[in-house]
Amino acid sequence: MTRITFIAIFFHLAFLMQAQLNSNDPVVAHRGAWKKDNLPQNSIASLRNAIKMGCMGSEFDVRMTSDDVLIVHHDPDISGLKIDNEKYAQLSKFPLSNGEILPTLEDFLREGLVDNHTTKLILEIKSSDLGKKRNIKVAHAVANAIIEHHAEKQVVIISFDIEILKIISDKYPVLSTQYLNGDLSPKELKALGIKGVDYHYDVFKSHPEYITQAKELGLFLNVWTVNNPNDMEFFLEKGFDFITTNEPELLYGFVRKNIPIKDWQLVWRDEFTNDGLPDTTKWSYDVGGHGWGNNEKQYYLSNSLKNSYQKNGILHIVALNEPYENSEYTSAKLTTYGKFLFQYGKIEVSAMLPAGKGTWPAIWMLPQSIRTKEEDWPLCGEIDIMEHVGKNPNVVHTSLHSKLYNHIINTQVTHFDTLEAVSRQFHTYGIEWDDKGIKFIYDGALYFEALKGENGKITTNEGWPFDKPYYLILNLAIGGNWGGPIDPDILPAEMQVDYVRMYKKI
Ligand code: MG
Repeated sequence: MTRITFIAIFFHLAFLMQAQLNSNDPVVAHRGAWKKDNLPQNSIASLRNAIKMGCMGSEFDVRMTSDDVLIVHHDPDISGLKIDNEKYAQLSKFPLSNGEILPTLEDFLREGLVDNHTTKLILEIKSSDLGKKRNIKVAHAVANAIIEHHAEKQVVIISFDIEILKIISDKYPVLSTQYLNGDLSPKELKALGIKGVDYHYDVFKSHPEYITQAKELGLFLNVWTVNNPNDMEFFLEKGFDFITTNEPELLYGFVRKNIPIKDWQLVWRDEFTNDGLPDTTKWSYDVGGHGWGNNEKQYYLSNSLKNSYQKNGILHIVALNEPYENSEYTSAKLTTYGKFLFQYGKIEVSAMLPAGKGTWPAIWMLPQSIRTKEEDWPLCGEIDIMEHVGKNPNVVHTSLHSKLYNHIINTQVTHFDTLEAVSRQFHTYGIEWDDKGIKFIYDGALYFEALKGENGKITTNEGWPFDKPYYLILNLAIGGNWGGPIDPDILPAEMQVDYVRMYKKI
């Protein structure tokens, strides 16, 4: 292939991808696309991320400081200081968690318009505790800033405060507005000149007539904050113009159902969308503190909110420096045993690993046969999708164990390599598994492949025990034969899991 042809094809593909992103995928990243890369909400970095993803919109919150600087921040205070009463110079002494200086609306408009023809800036005006007069001032200041940047077509103003929106729609009819509070019908909003209905999903569920009414009146439909897969499907099906979510990647997965996971059908998933303990229909616990065959130092507890909980769509498995019975530490080990067994297919787990000496997180699988006591370890087999010991930061291991090839006799099938920032970023760890072998896939790329019978290895159950149903295990061990000496200062330490998805080949 000539270079020019190659370049032409590359640009053609890039164009096609761009065209796809420019289509009417109604994904609005709530406070930017922050979650996957662990960025601060309402940061320039999360805005840039949403633009890079090609989101239809990136939402952010605007407030005004006492010296009339419009800033981007959700809460009414910063480090205990009331934004209403403090000057920008004082507030900007507190950087965001990624080191960014507290962004202003000016920063957002400047950054948000560079190389961006796709992503609308969904600008929420927060009302001030100082009252109506202050809100009027903020409304005018925001509108003028947008007009100065010639960003009228690219910004949508949203607010819970109907008075703020009334000022914008009366004085600046060129600007698009959407109301958040849920207490007015689309008809009432239309009469006030508001251009869109942006309500909590419960409002639309209890008032389904709002959806048809808004469409008839030509109002935009937006909904917040939709993180649950079932709700995503519901609002996509209803043809919403915008769906505001903390999970833009997940929503894209729905929008383009078959594009990222062609040939695979999702058969089991947990996106950890409800806050609290893990879902008991999906997970059970292994409990105990007997060392688990490796002299591990933790006691695994069940139903312990401190050791295993979900929040904002993330599962946290937490090891604590707290004694329990004869163990010095507590932690959790979740398994799908008794809930879901899996043989052949694709597994993808998005996780961020703990840092620190003594931590030993793992994503792995054992077969049903060890539970039914038909087979002991290592005859039963073991699939280690991901193991990481904190004493060797970023070195990530995959292994297969069997009667003939296992770590006790140092003959296991294994591979390790160094990844980037495993404790600061989510990576996906997974396998593609069929009757010919197991591919270990990290971040969508082949990490290691083990083929049945490779290098003359025995292919009976003693050498390849991977043709039977297995269950998935997520745990965080502390110390032990491989975890090694423990630095107690690093506790609590946690493995965070964004999602677990399992697919069957179509
Ligand atoms: Mg907001």
